[in-house]
Amino acid sequence: MRTFAYSPAGTSGDAVASHSRSVAASYLAGGTSLLDLAKIDVMRPDLVVDINRLPLKKIEKLSDGRLKIGALVTNTDLAQHPVVKSDYTSLSQAILSGASTQLRNKATTAGNIMQRVRCSYFRDGVSPCNKREPGSGCAAIGGLNRSVHAVLGVSDNCIATHPSDMCVAMAAIGARILVEGPEGQREIDFLDFHLLPGDTPDREHALKPDELITHVILDAPIGGSRSSYLKLRDRTSYQFSLASSAAIVVLDGNIITNARLALGGVSTKPWRAKEAEMVLVGQAAGPSAFAQAADIAMRDAKPQAHNAYKVPLGKQAIIRNLRNLTA
Ligand code: SF4
Repeated sequence: MRTFAYSPAGTSGDAVASHSRSVAASYLAGGTSLLDLAKIDVMRPDLVVDINRLPLKKIEKLSDGRLKIGALVTNTDLAQHPVVKSDYTSLSQAILSGASTQLRNKATTAGNIMQRVRCSYFRDGVSPCNKREPGSGCAAIGGLNRSVHAVLGVSDNCIATHPSDMCVAMAAIGARILVEGPEGQREIDFLDFHLLPGDTPDREHALKPDELITHVILDAPIGGSRSSYLKLRDRTSYQFSLASSAAIVVLDGNIITNARLALGGVSTKPWRAKEAEMVLVGQAAGPSAFAQAADIAMRDAKPQAHNAYKVPLGKQAIIRNLRNLTA
């Protein structure tokens, strides 16, 4: 058994200062990822900084129409918030499609953003895995790569999908992530937060050492828009996505005048499909426009031996979601 020091923090400044004491420190919020991975010896913190006492549990509407979400707001509270249910429907649906009730009651907004991949080779602790052990190789390339492995944003070093549903909805909505660190506070655009694996799959996000996520600020809802999240998976509860889409559209009659589209389950990070959005705008909502958008969104897919089915499935996640949303 490995031991670690435990340090509860009362302010975000305290938390950052404590975390700075060790390069192997971890922040503890809901713990649904950290404790899992520590128990199987994949994460090995020597210092756990407990941030649960920080005042980061509020959801507030800002005067400019944006929604400010504290890092410690639970997934349940975010999904059930009246403003989220009415103005960010796809976000509420995405969160409720993930994990289980018990996990959503514990898991936090920041923790969901920071969750690690579900690749079994990453989690078994012994297989070659560039994410866990840089330079050791990738057992999933040439191994089993059917369900939690990507076709978009992959590299020769890692093909694991980002597991979050919530983040796919946030990628479509648009958001800023507020962080605090040794050099003060700063904002990161949500689409720049998660990194592609490239040559450094062990670097998963844009946080600098010791930085702490304090809030997420969602863009104001687009006037007159409707949104939805569709998740396709092996079973309909407590299962990660094989392909999913978050869609936001504005219709003028049957003409699409604005569109946002993001994908999950097929990509190494929450995947905003901007070219596909541009194809939709100005077209009549219908099979032809939806199919064109889906083709463009999946155009650069690079399948592996067992996940080529994700190319048509990803297209179906887009087409069905748009069809349901515009019906
Ligand atoms: Fe590791 Fe990524 Fe390869 Fe999985 S896909 S074994 S996480 S490097």
